[in-house]
Amino acid sequence: MLTPIRLISEAAELAAQRHNGMARKGRGNEPYINHLAEVANLLATATDGADAELVAAGWLHDSIEDTDTTREELAQRFSERVAALVAECTDDMSLPKAERRRLQVRDAPKKSPGAKLIKIADKISNTGARIQTDPSAAERADLADYVAWASQVVAGCRGGNAWLDEKFDDAVKAARALL
Ligand code: ZN
Repeated sequence: MLTPIRLISEAAELAAQRHNGMARKGRGNEPYINHLAEVANLLATATDGADAELVAAGWLHDSIEDTDTTREELAQRFSERVAALVAECTDDMSLPKAERRRLQVRDAPKKSPGAKLIKIADKISNTGARIQTDPSAAERADLADYVAWASQVVAGCRGGNAWLDEKFDDAVKAARALL
Protein backbone atom coordinates (compact mmCIF):
# COMPACT_ATOMS: atom_id res chain seq x y z
CA MET A 1 0.00 0.00 0.00
CA LEU A 2 1.34 3.41 -1.00
CA THR A 3 1.72 6.14 1.63
CA PRO A 4 -1.04 8.77 1.44
CA ILE A 5 1.21 11.35 -0.22
CA ARG A 6 2.48 8.87 -2.81
CA LEU A 7 -1.05 7.62 -3.49
CA ILE A 8 -2.27 11.13 -4.31
CA SER A 9 0.89 12.14 -6.14
CA GLU A 10 0.81 9.06 -8.39
CA ALA A 11 -2.91 9.50 -9.01
CA ALA A 12 -2.31 13.11 -10.11
CA GLU A 13 0.50 12.08 -12.42
CA LEU A 14 -1.46 9.23 -14.01
CA ALA A 15 -4.45 11.53 -14.51
CA ALA A 16 -2.21 14.16 -16.16
CA GLN A 17 -0.77 11.55 -18.52
CA ARG A 18 -4.04 9.88 -19.43
CA HIS A 19 -6.04 13.10 -19.97
CA ASN A 20 -3.13 14.80 -21.77
CA GLY A 21 -4.34 17.07 -24.58
CA MET A 22 -8.00 16.94 -23.53
CA ALA A 23 -9.92 20.16 -22.92
CA ARG A 24 -12.90 20.58 -20.62
CA LYS A 25 -16.30 21.90 -21.56
CA GLY A 26 -17.13 25.52 -20.67
CA ARG A 27 -14.92 28.41 -19.66
CA GLY A 28 -12.12 29.20 -22.10
CA ASN A 29 -10.93 25.77 -23.25
CA GLU A 30 -9.24 24.93 -19.95
CA PRO A 31 -7.10 21.76 -19.90
CA TYR A 32 -9.05 18.78 -18.55
CA ILE A 33 -6.57 18.32 -15.71
CA ASN A 34 -7.85 21.61 -14.20
CA HIS A 35 -11.21 19.90 -13.65
CA LEU A 36 -9.57 16.89 -12.00
CA ALA A 37 -7.41 19.10 -9.76
CA GLU A 38 -10.49 21.04 -8.69
CA VAL A 39 -12.50 17.91 -7.88
CA ALA A 40 -9.59 16.35 -5.95
CA ASN A 41 -9.03 19.53 -3.97
CA LEU A 42 -12.73 19.94 -3.15
CA LEU A 43 -12.64 16.39 -1.74
CA ALA A 44 -9.44 17.04 0.22
CA THR A 45 -10.93 20.21 1.71
CA ALA A 46 -14.32 18.66 2.43
CA THR A 47 -12.72 15.82 4.39
CA ASP A 48 -9.88 17.97 5.81
CA GLY A 49 -7.29 15.63 4.31
CA ALA A 50 -8.55 12.58 6.21
CA ASP A 51 -9.12 10.30 3.20
CA ALA A 52 -6.23 9.93 0.75
CA GLU A 53 -7.99 7.23 -1.30
CA LEU A 54 -10.94 9.54 -1.85
CA VAL A 55 -8.66 12.35 -3.06
CA ALA A 56 -6.79 9.92 -5.35
CA ALA A 57 -10.14 8.74 -6.74
CA GLY A 58 -11.01 12.41 -7.31
CA TRP A 59 -7.94 12.78 -9.55
CA LEU A 60 -8.90 9.60 -11.39
CA HIS A 61 -12.69 9.84 -11.42
CA ASP A 62 -12.98 10.31 -15.21
CA SER A 63 -10.08 8.04 -16.18
CA ILE A 64 -12.09 4.89 -16.96
CA GLU A 65 -14.85 6.83 -18.71
CA ASP A 66 -12.67 9.07 -20.89
CA THR A 67 -9.34 7.23 -21.35
CA ASP A 68 -8.11 3.66 -21.87
CA THR A 69 -7.57 3.20 -18.11
CA THR A 70 -9.23 0.10 -16.64
CA ARG A 71 -10.65 -0.71 -13.22
CA GLU A 72 -8.13 -3.57 -12.89
CA GLU A 73 -5.22 -1.23 -13.54
CA LEU A 74 -6.43 1.18 -10.85
CA ALA A 75 -6.89 -1.67 -8.38
CA GLN A 76 -3.34 -2.86 -9.06
CA ARG A 77 -1.62 0.54 -8.99
CA PHE A 78 -3.64 2.11 -6.17
CA SER A 79 -6.14 0.04 -4.21
CA GLU A 80 -9.36 -1.88 -4.58
CA ARG A 81 -11.24 1.00 -2.95
CA VAL A 82 -9.81 3.63 -5.33
CA ALA A 83 -10.76 1.39 -8.27
CA ALA A 84 -14.25 0.82 -6.88
CA LEU A 85 -14.83 4.55 -6.30
CA VAL A 86 -13.78 5.42 -9.86
CA ALA A 87 -15.88 2.57 -11.29
CA GLU A 88 -18.89 3.90 -9.38
CA CYS A 89 -18.39 7.29 -11.05
CA THR A 90 -18.08 5.81 -14.56
CA ASP A 91 -20.97 6.10 -17.02
CA ASP A 92 -21.60 3.44 -19.66
CA MET A 93 -20.46 5.43 -22.70
CA SER A 94 -22.15 2.99 -25.09
CA LEU A 95 -25.49 4.53 -24.00
CA PRO A 96 -26.88 7.77 -25.44
CA LYS A 97 -26.35 10.91 -23.34
CA ALA A 98 -30.00 11.25 -22.25
CA GLU A 99 -29.99 7.68 -20.95
CA ARG A 100 -26.66 8.16 -19.12
CA ARG A 101 -28.11 11.25 -17.47
CA ARG A 102 -31.28 9.42 -16.46
CA LEU A 103 -29.26 6.58 -14.92
CA GLN A 104 -27.08 9.02 -12.94
CA VAL A 105 -30.22 10.45 -11.30
CA ARG A 106 -31.70 7.00 -10.68
CA ASP A 107 -28.51 5.44 -9.30
CA ALA A 108 -27.15 8.34 -7.22
CA PRO A 109 -28.88 7.30 -3.95
CA LYS A 110 -27.40 3.77 -4.24
CA LYS A 111 -23.77 4.92 -4.48
CA SER A 112 -21.22 4.47 -1.68
CA PRO A 113 -20.67 7.47 0.64
CA GLY A 114 -17.34 8.26 -1.06
CA ALA A 115 -18.75 8.06 -4.58
CA LYS A 116 -21.55 10.44 -3.55
CA LEU A 117 -18.96 13.00 -2.45
CA ILE A 118 -17.08 12.65 -5.76
CA LYS A 119 -20.31 13.15 -7.69
CA ILE A 120 -21.15 16.33 -5.78
CA ALA A 121 -17.61 17.71 -6.24
CA ASP A 122 -17.84 16.88 -9.97
CA LYS A 123 -21.12 18.78 -10.29
CA ILE A 124 -19.70 21.78 -8.38
CA SER A 125 -16.73 21.92 -10.74
CA ASN A 126 -18.80 21.48 -13.91
CA THR A 127 -21.36 24.08 -12.86
CA GLY A 128 -18.59 26.56 -12.06
CA ALA A 129 -16.98 26.02 -15.47
CA ARG A 130 -20.26 26.98 -17.14
CA ILE A 131 -20.56 30.24 -15.22
CA GLN A 132 -19.09 33.01 -17.32
CA THR A 133 -19.53 36.74 -17.52
CA ASP A 134 -21.83 37.84 -20.34
CA PRO A 135 -23.05 34.38 -21.38
CA SER A 136 -24.48 33.96 -24.87
CA ALA A 137 -28.01 32.58 -25.26
CA ALA A 138 -26.56 29.14 -26.02
CA GLU A 139 -24.27 29.26 -22.96
CA ARG A 140 -27.19 30.31 -20.80
CA ALA A 141 -29.33 27.45 -22.12
CA ASP A 142 -26.50 24.96 -21.51
CA LEU A 143 -26.06 26.28 -17.96
CA ALA A 144 -29.81 26.06 -17.19
CA ASP A 145 -29.96 22.53 -18.58
CA TYR A 146 -26.85 21.41 -16.69
CA VAL A 147 -27.91 22.91 -13.35
CA ALA A 148 -31.40 21.37 -13.53
CA TRP A 149 -29.95 17.91 -14.15
CA ALA A 150 -27.01 18.23 -11.72
CA SER A 151 -29.41 19.30 -8.95
CA GLN A 152 -31.34 16.06 -9.42
CA VAL A 153 -28.16 13.97 -9.20
CA VAL A 154 -26.91 15.87 -6.14
CA ALA A 155 -30.32 15.48 -4.43
CA GLY A 156 -29.56 11.75 -4.35
CA CYS A 157 -26.03 12.27 -3.00
CA ARG A 158 -26.55 14.82 -0.21
CA GLY A 159 -26.12 14.45 3.54
CA GLY A 160 -22.60 13.01 3.76
CA ASN A 161 -20.72 16.29 3.94
CA ALA A 162 -22.39 19.58 4.84
CA TRP A 163 -19.59 21.76 3.41
CA LEU A 164 -19.77 20.08 0.01
CA ASP A 165 -23.59 20.31 -0.03
CA GLU A 166 -23.30 24.03 0.68
CA LYS A 167 -20.66 24.53 -2.03
CA PHE A 168 -23.01 23.00 -4.55
CA ASP A 169 -25.89 25.22 -3.39
CA ASP A 170 -23.59 28.26 -3.76
CA ALA A 171 -22.71 27.22 -7.33
CA VAL A 172 -26.41 26.82 -8.19
CA LYS A 173 -27.15 30.26 -6.73
CA ALA A 174 -24.36 31.81 -8.81
CA ALA A 175 -25.71 30.03 -11.90
CA ARG A 176 -29.30 31.10 -11.31
CA ALA A 177 -28.15 34.74 -11.00
CA LEU A 178 -27.12 34.50 -14.67
CA LEU A 179 -30.34 32.86 -15.91
ZN1 ZN B 1 -15.60 14.89 -13.89
